[in-house]
Amino acid sequence: MTVAATTSRAPAQKYAGPALIPVDIGHATYAAVTDPDTAFWALVDKNRVAESLTGGPLLEAYGKEYDRLKRELHALRFELKPSGVYLNPTERCNLNCTYCYLPGEQRSGGSHMPQKTLVDSLGALHLFPFGDG
Ligand code: SF4
Repeated sequence: MTVAATTSRAPAQKYAGPALIPVDIGHATYAAVTDPDTAFWALVDKNRVAESLTGGPLLEAYGKEYDRLKRELHALRFELKPSGVYLNPTERCNLNCTYCYLPGEQRSGGSHMPQKTLVDSLGALHLFPFGDG
């Protein structure tokens, strides 16, 4: 699915709380509204996007949950220790698992991670404060 994000916030809002950004998701009836600060998103009728950005029950409800959602996302992004790290040095695969959802042409194509990116990634991982062990 192609999602074309708009780059501007809503026009002058009468609502004083956190703002939502409209995103055209290519659907005939619905558009998305989202806030990257909290990862909140909702689908709204395309005819009511402007209304959703300037007031109404959705924005009011979102405003009440904004602080909690922002704290949760900050904790997820910056306060958790990873339990595992996956590095994919290539997009290619020469296997043919029966459950694979990638088309064969896609598995045989794709690019390799540049060596510098791989080395830099391993260096960053080496410096990460994992703690004990
Ligand atoms: S699931 Fe697909 S991509 Fe993964 S190893 Fe199997 S064939 Fe390769």
